[in-house]
Order: sequence, then C-alpha cells, then structure tokens
Amino acid sequence: MPNLKPNIISPTLWQRIFLLSFFVFILGNSCGYSQHIYELDPHNNTHRLDSYVEIFIDSGYAYSFEEISSPEFQSNFKPNIKDGLTFGYMRPPIWLKLSIQKTSQAQWLLEIPAPFLEGVDFYQMHDSLFQHFETGYYKPHHTRGFPHTGYAFELLFSETEATTVIIKITGFSPKTFPVFVIEKEHFIERLRLEDFGYGLFFGVLLVMLLYNLFLYFTLRHLDYFLYACTIICTIAIFAAATGYGGKFIWPNHPWVNFYAGRISLPVQVAILSFFTLRFLETKKYSRIIYYTLLSLIPMAGIVIVLMLTGVFLSAGNNLLSVALVVYLLSGIVCRINGNKTANFYIAAWGMYLTGGLLLTLRNSGFFEFNFWTTHFVEIGAAAETTIIALALGARYRKYKEEKEEVQLLALKLQQETTELLEIKVKDRTEQLSRANEELSATLETNRLQTEVIERKNAELDDFFYRVSHDLRGPISSLLAMSFLANKEVNDPVALEYLDRQKQQAERLNGIINALISLTKLSHSEVKNEPIDFEKMVHECIQSFRGHANFNTITFKKNIQQHIQYESSWVFVNAIIQNLIENAIKYCGRSEPFVEINIKKELDIVIIEISDNGQGIPDDLQSKIFDMFFRASKSGGGSGLGLYILKRSVDRLKGKVTIKSELGKGSTFIVKLPLVIK
Ligand code: ADP
Repeated sequence: MPNLKPNIISPTLWQRIFLLSFFVFILGNSCGYSQHIYELDPHNNTHRLDSYVEIFIDSGYAYSFEEISSPEFQSNFKPNIKDGLTFGYMRPPIWLKLSIQKTSQAQWLLEIPAPFLEGVDFYQMHDSLFQHFETGYYKPHHTRGFPHTGYAFELLFSETEATTVIIKITGFSPKTFPVFVIEKEHFIERLRLEDFGYGLFFGVLLVMLLYNLFLYFTLRHLDYFLYACTIICTIAIFAAATGYGGKFIWPNHPWVNFYAGRISLPVQVAILSFFTLRFLETKKYSRIIYYTLLSLIPMAGIVIVLMLTGVFLSAGNNLLSVALVVYLLSGIVCRINGNKTANFYIAAWGMYLTGGLLLTLRNSGFFEFNFWTTHFVEIGAAAETTIIALALGARYRKYKEEKEEVQLLALKLQQETTELLEIKVKDRTEQLSRANEELSATLETNRLQTEVIERKNAELDDFFYRVSHDLRGPISSLLAMSFLANKEVNDPVALEYLDRQKQQAERLNGIINALISLTKLSHSEVKNEPIDFEKMVHECIQSFRGHANFNTITFKKNIQQHIQYESSWVFVNAIIQNLIENAIKYCGRSEPFVEINIKKELDIVIIEISDNGQGIPDDLQSKIFDMFFRASKSGGGSGLGLYILKRSVDRLKGKVTIKSELGKGSTFIVKLPLVIK
C-alpha cells in the first residue's frame, strides 16, 4: 500500500493569523488578503477551477513556503486572467492558491491531470496544521496523495470552514494543465473509464507488436523486426507520458520515466528513420529523402548524448517533431514519385503528426487542455501503428502469395522431374535387372565352368601322376638300354636309328618330368614366403648351364632392389624357370640375348622376360599356353612349359601377355598381384 501520509507542518504565528482570517472571511467580513472562495455545487460532480486559481510566479526563485503562506504575502497572488493555466515551458516556480468551500457531505479531490510535472508540492491547512505532499514525475508513486497517473489530493473540510490549498509547480517539463475538483466517487468511476481507454490503447499497441514479431519470426525480414522495435519505443514513451508506467509498472523506480519517456524518443527516431528508408525504398524514389532520413540516425545519437548529459533535456521531443514531419514528407515525395505503399505512410503519419501537433500547441499554451489536445496523439499513435502494421501485413500477404506461387511452380517442376526420373529409373532398373540376370547367368555358367575345369584338371593331374609314375621306370630302362646299345653297335645306320630312339626317349623323359612337376604344383598350397627375385633368377639361369648355346648367350638382368613380395616359391619359380628356359631355347642364333626385368608398380609385381629369337606368329599366340602345344614339331620340347606357367600364374591370380614380332624376338609379361584376393 502506498504511503499516503502527508508531511505535517506546524503553522507559524502568521499562518495562524492567516487561518483566522479565513474564519473572518467565512463569517462574512471582508479581508484584504483573502481570495474568492469557490463553493462546490453538489449537483455538479466536476468543477474546473482554472479561472479561480490565484497565481504567483517566483521569477527570482526566492521564496519559501513559509514566506508564501504568510498573510502579508497574499496580496502578491494574482487572479488568473486567462481561460486555462497555460505556462508553457516556464522555468521559475509557479505558486497556485485556491480556496474552496463544500456545501454537502460528499468527498472531494483536487486533481491536476498532468503526469509529467516534475515537482508538485501540495499544501493544505487542516486542523491548524499544514498537510504537505511533496511529489512529482521523478518521485516514487506512493508520494502522491492518491494513486493516480496525474496528481490528485483529497480535500479536507471542517464543518464550517473553507479549505485553502497552495500548490507549487516546478521543473522543466511543459506546464499547461487544468485544475479540477471532483467528487471522489465520480473520480473513481472516471478513472475506471480512463483505465479502460488506455488499456484499449496499449492493447492495440501490444497486438501490433506481437503481430509484427510473428511476421518477423515467420518471414525473417528485418522490416518487421525494426517496426516491432518502434512499437516497443511507442509503448515505452506513452507508458511514461500517460503516467501508466509509473502507476502500474515501475511505481518505485520513477527514474524509468526518464529513460522510457525521454531517451526512447531519439531511439525511436533512429529506428523509424532506418525503417522508413527501407519500407518506402527511398533510395529508389528520392535521394534527398534517403539522405535526410539517413542523417536523422546520427542526429538521434547526438540527441541521446545531449539528454544523458543533461545539456538539452527536451532535445528528444524536438527531434521527434522534426522527424515526424520528415516521415510525412517522405511518404508524400515517394508517393508522387510512384510508390503506392506510401499511401499508408501518409495516412499513418498524418494522424500521428496531427496528434503530436495538437499536444505541442497545447503544451506551449496555444491550445486549451481538453480531450482532443490531450488524447489525439494517442489515437494517432494507435492509428499509425495499426495502419503501418496493416501495410506490413499486406506486404506479408504479397510475400506469401509470391512464395506460394513459387512453391507451386517448384512443386510442378518437381512432379515433372519426378515423373521423368521415375520413367528413367524404371528403364534403368529394367536394364539393370536384365544385365543382372545375364550376369548371374554368366557367373553361374562361369562358376560351373570353373568347377568343371577344376574337376577336370584335378582328374587330369591325378591321371598324369599315375601315368608318369608308371612310365618313369620303363623310360629310365629304355634310356639306359639305348646308352648301352650305343656302346656296342658300330653299324652307322643302326647308330642313327639308336640316336633317334635315344632322342625320343629323352623327350618322353622330359614330358614325364614336366608332368610330375605339374602334378606337384597342382597339389601345392599357395603360401606366403618372401621371394628374393635376384637369387631366384640367378639360380634359374645357372640351372641351364649345360644347355648347348648357354655360353654364347648374353643375359641382361634388371631387377628392382628390395621388392617386398610374399608368395609361393614353387609357383613363382615355375613361372621364371619356364620363361627363362624358353628364352634360352628360342633366342637368336647370332648374338643371342636374354633380358630379365622385374619391378613392382603399386600393388603389382611385373616380370618381363625377352629374347631376340624368331618370335611367335600372331595366330599362334593364343594357342601356345595350351597343353602339349608346340609351334614346331622339331626339337625336344614337351609343349608343357607354358601350360605349367599359365596354371601357376592363374593360381597366383595373375595375368600373362605376349608381345612378339617375327624375326625380332618375344617378350612374355607376367603381372602378379601383391595380395591375392
Ligand atoms: P616347349 O617345350 O615346346 O618349349 P612350351 O609350352 O614351353 O613347350 O612352348 C610352347 C611353344 O611355344 C613352343 O614349342 C614354341 O614354339 C613356342 N615358344 C615358347 N616360348 C617361345 C619363345 N620365347 N620364342 C619363340 N617361341 C616360343
């Protein structure tokens, strides 16, 4: 509960005399310093007493209440000759004096409906004591005589006496106000009505604020946010100016009035200027307006500094007045130059400006204090906020429509694309499933073929193993016999016959040995042994030392150092052994030459063995890996060497290719993967 207890001042002797003089006056005697006593007609619940107020302006800031209230001073009070109390921005203390007499039991209040008056000192003589309320715009709300946005003090009457009140008004704010004496019940009723009206006003502003915030969060467009900020400023300004902020929101923090009511003004000008130049697209429609609006922003900054430092406290009001004119002009110029949205702007600011103008003229004393001069600015503010919010809403609808159009177009495009995609996917899927079917059929065939081949190979290997073992003994005997026969026979024909038979037996022996090594290979497991190519090649070459033309052959080795390769020694050796053997066997007659190149490239080991022999005709190249294939039937070859090589390469998951040119030589290229997958 606010503390409504007034300060009690004991009257001085002179004041007692002054009090006595009222008695004298009331008793019908004329008295030099008494003023006219206003009798409150009980049939009228509101009395406007501006013209009954006596005034003293303390231009020299010289007098205290004691002096002012002394009987001899009373002649300094002068009756108000004007209609209202219009002092404008007058600085010196203004003393008002009023004597009132009631004629009924009703309770009465004295009201000054001007919330922004900075200093209001209310003195009333009652029971030989002065009651004093020291209150004002920057004083806590409970210092007022009655909880009200303006200033209201309960009048205390004794049965027979009139009451006299003295009011001191001080401060920098505009001092144009009426003085009412209102019947208490009626006053409370009026307050309810007023609260309802202002509730409606702040309600409209709040709805518009929420509406703009909603639009901002929906569209993420800066304009809506800026406008929401200006509405916040409007709410703050009016909350402070109407006194509702002080009454309901910050009753114990009157300094908020300063920030909400004064500093909000330049802040709002800065935001509104920025908003206007965006909203009206002023850069497009008028460069002058654009730069004028732009210049208002730093000006607002300067005004804030001037106000905070106390150098020029009403700078905010002046800036807002100028800015309002600029906004209205901006609307007009942009409309003339073709911006249709400016219509909203002209209407909105026209209303606000009219209200602002009325208020300013009222504050300056040109206009009287009445409903329109007081409240038109609020109506204007609510209208302005609503009109611009609606304009922004219209823009939102336009955005929405455009967005929906684009979305529709995108949807159509998407549908078309999807349909096209579906057809393509269907086509591709069909193609793919056909290819898959073919592939799986091929794979199945391949798998079956591989199985058959492997089974056949295994059967063949098994067969060879048995045959070669069975034949080994008789062939050895045959060779031994032909050796012995050669020693015993002298007939040249018989000798030639024996020689041919020996060659046949030797070839047969070669085949048997080859078959044995083949069966050995096919029974071998693939292992991971480190392969030393240098050593392997050297040993292979050396194993052919007994070959007829071995000594005439030039061997050129080019083996990359430190090849890290692990594999089965038997398979790699079979590959290198067979290739070197063939290169030796089939190399050139003159300047025979065999070249061995081994290197690693990425994850592959490449073995290249070349000779400068007769070469292999193209049509035979595909056949030479077949079992028992020999290009020439002469000579003692088995036709198994390259077959064994191919089987070994396959076991190591490698590849073998041939580059050969007739009369120039052949190169066998074997590529073995480092890792067998
Ligand atoms: P062979 O024991 O007959 O050499 P291979 O399977 O090793 O059996 O070779 C098959 C045939 O391929 C050979 O008879 C030969 O005609 C041909 N051939 C193999 N290597 C070479 C080579 N380096 N130059 C020319 N022909 C070759």
